[in-house]
Amino acid sequence: MADNRRPLFAGNWKMNLTLDEAVALADGLKNRIGRLRMVDLAITPSFPYVATIAKRLAGERIAVGAQDIHPGDFGAFTGSVSGVQLRSAGASFVLVGHSERRHVFGDTDAVVAEKLQSALAHTLDAVLCIGETLDERDGGDTFAVCERQLAEALARVNETELSRITLAYEPVWAIGTGRTATPAQAQEVHRIVREWIEHRYSAGAAGRLRILYGGSVKPDNVEDLMAGPDVDGALVGGASLDAEKFSRIATYGSQGSA
Ligand code: PEP
Repeated sequence: MADNRRPLFAGNWKMNLTLDEAVALADGLKNRIGRLRMVDLAITPSFPYVATIAKRLAGERIAVGAQDIHPGDFGAFTGSVSGVQLRSAGASFVLVGHSERRHVFGDTDAVVAEKLQSALAHTLDAVLCIGETLDERDGGDTFAVCERQLAEALARVNETELSRITLAYEPVWAIGTGRTATPAQAQEVHRIVREWIEHRYSAGAAGRLRILYGGSVKPDNVEDLMAGPDVDGALVGGASLDAEKFSRIATYGSQGSA
């Protein structure tokens, strides 16, 4: 983590929790870390809970976003949710290109780019996720895959718009598997991603950009991962479903005091 970038910890709740459980989790976060000042915090409940949780956390320092977005505004797209709808429900940001969207639902780089454009058009901030599969890593293609995903997603994004985007490097093989990238592996990819951003935009843009690591982040590994100078926080799945664990991640390095 570099001194000039404020860490961000985002919890991706995925397709988990009933409404009552989601509200209880939000309340647990509010009590523990709702006013935390040293880092930024964000969560993505399931679509049907976004409005309720956004109201519940109004005035707290925890942003509420969504896990996906449809590129259109309104229309015959059964089961999808648009940026206009997310904004009207109180979301302030959206995840784009999460590996489960790419690999389970077949979102291509082109679709990810459209979704990112839609988020920006509706003044939603975005967390753009990139990352390689195990086969791609074993084949020595980690950087090529990450750079391709970046190049496609950011093809129509200018430097001003980039300031509303956070990147999340999430190696697919580390998501929900309990297998974490080593701090050195994470730092290496983050550094290369930042260099790519510097080349594509500017040194200033690269210096300001936050790059989160995602993949089995837990209270006991977050501090080591955050030691990488280009690691600016984490996108957390499983451990974000437990208020105590997510709070310990967010307050890493401070013995759990929020
Ligand atoms: C994720 O869903 O983005 C993720 C990183 O999940 P987990 O922390 O469970 O690996």
